[in-house]
Amino acid sequence: MSDKVLHCSHCGNKTLMKLVAEHELNDQDHIYERWSADPVHSFYWFSHWKLYLCPVCKNVSLIRLSGDSEDIGPRGEPIITETTLYPPYSIENKYIPTPVGTAFEAALKVRHLEGAVCVLALRRALEKLCKHEGAEGKDLFNKLKNLQDKGKLPPIMDDIAFILRIEGNSAAHADDVEFDTNTVNQLIDFTQTILDYMYTLPNKIKAAQTRIAEIAERDRELKSGAISGAAE
Ligand SMILES: [Zn+2]
Repeated sequence: MSDKVLHCSHCGNKTLMKLVAEHELNDQDHIYERWSADPVHSFYWFSHWKLYLCPVCKNVSLIRLSGDSEDIGPRGEPIITETTLYPPYSIENKYIPTPVGTAFEAALKVRHLEGAVCVLALRRALEKLCKHEGAEGKDLFNKLKNLQDKGKLPPIMDDIAFILRIEGNSAAHADDVEFDTNTVNQLIDFTQTILDYMYTLPNKIKAAQTRIAEIAERDRELKSGAISGAAE
């Protein structure tokens, strides 16, 4: 168990990282039958957490390796799943249209690297959203305003004016504009809120309504079953 070449999501470098801490957890469960003293089936699983330090930016990344005895390859070898627990940079994007979600994720990946690039990528995500929604207008501001007029977006034009003013400044001054972390975070929050409002929340509400309808339906079936059962 040693150092490893990893992609650092803090600084974007792919570099040899130092393993600074680790912890392993192994567990098992056995199923017994009355006729046998030995277990008829045994189940094993493990998690192995590794904390790596990036030599470039001095930030840590937490990786989890996990597997179990049910998930094995053709030669009986365990299939190991590797997950990056920290830093988080993926979004819950299963409801967001792919081009929009991909553009937004691209922006999140560079948020700690280059503020100006992140802001441009956010603008790209919003452009893709407008295209996907068939927004009309000569520029991004008017397209977003069009979505607001159609009732697809809440009244947020003041915020949109703000985001586009900042973005416009960067275009005017090209190289010498620096975006501080607060500004970048504000713009990310703004874009995230729009995506939640348009895609994630309506779909979550729909899913909750379907669940409630299913429960009500099951309840009705149980009650009618109980009534007809009582009548027999
Ligand atoms: Zn780094």
